[in-house]
Amino acid sequence: MDKAPINWTNTVLFTTTPVFAITLVPLYGYFYGYDLYEWIVFILLMAFCGMSITGGYHRLWSHKTYRAHPSLRFIFAIGGACAVQNDILHWVSDHRRHHRYVDNNDRDPYSAGKGFWFSHIGWILRDYKSATNDFSNVKDLREDPIVCWQHTHYLKLVLITNIGVPAFLGYLHGDIIACLLLGGLLRLVLSQHATYLINSLAHMWGQQTYSDSSSARDNSWLALITYGEGYHNYHHTFQWDYRNGVKWWHYDPTKWMIRLCSLVGLTQDLKRSTLAQIEEAKLEMQYRIATERCELLNIPENWRLCLKQEYEQFLETLQLWTDHRQAWYEAKGKKIQRSLEHWDQLQVRDKYKEVQYSLKIQRRRWQKILRNLGEPFPNPA
Ligand SMILES: [Zn+2]
Ligand SMILES: [Zn+2]
Repeated sequence: MDKAPINWTNTVLFTTTPVFAITLVPLYGYFYGYDLYEWIVFILLMAFCGMSITGGYHRLWSHKTYRAHPSLRFIFAIGGACAVQNDILHWVSDHRRHHRYVDNNDRDPYSAGKGFWFSHIGWILRDYKSATNDFSNVKDLREDPIVCWQHTHYLKLVLITNIGVPAFLGYLHGDIIACLLLGGLLRLVLSQHATYLINSLAHMWGQQTYSDSSSARDNSWLALITYGEGYHNYHHTFQWDYRNGVKWWHYDPTKWMIRLCSLVGLTQDLKRSTLAQIEEAKLEMQYRIATERCELLNIPENWRLCLKQEYEQFLETLQLWTDHRQAWYEAKGKKIQRSLEHWDQLQVRDKYKEVQYSLKIQRRRWQKILRNLGEPFPNPA
């Protein structure tokens, strides 16, 4: 058994705050009650901390999925300190190692291979070797003055944002204790555990839609309480993408925030995976599961061959669709000077539409095959 020494600062912080939260918050509520203002303070500070971690610490600083204006980086740095999840340098260093050595119990700081408790919070309570930082993987961040400033003043920022800000908001409204309990204590505990669920539950519960090379899962329920980070299988497969919920209907407020900020120039250079890359990864996973299912069900050889052909044909159509799509976008961007060119342009468009239709039919056929092989398949939609 790992006998790493106990980290007393973290142990005291992470045991006393939840105990106080589940006792003091309801007790105060029972005797004095909370009003709408105090609940609004709670919700706003929850979102402020949560989105600073997901949008700032995670998608901006850890993965560089976009670039952000200094004013936004400053807000994220303050919100990250408010969330008390360590400073940017530590958090990012841990997270980059998590991606690099995912599920490796000796090198992934919060490896899910060591169980729910360890990956959720256990890794913080003791000084494990796997969580030792030398910051060699965050050299790029040392060039960001906001990151360095937050690193130097981290403790002061933690105290100001967790005690000073809620107390001041309470003073303005006439009840300092209520705001400290909801906006300070309860918000702190809930926002920390929401993030930790990504390291624990999002590596255990859900679907491996795009890859099974790591334990990461897609889980739309978790996305609801983690500002969109529940689509963790997608994230581990395409970590350069600023989105975690890749479909437009996926609940991913962090993605919407980053996109909205880009409209006013606060964020730039938003990176995305291509539709073909995403579909190809999903297809490969489905094909792998389908072949395993064939083994299990003793499906005749000629049928397996059909499956293989169908898979290869799907890949070909996907490639064809990518090429024609590219050609159509290029043709669309060209300035038309003669009517003959317009005719050419229409031809490119028609060809693209034709291939798009073939892809649609191909997709339907593939879904039918998967259905015949029985459920469940990851993300058949
Ligand atoms: Zn990540
Ligand atoms: Zn992960």
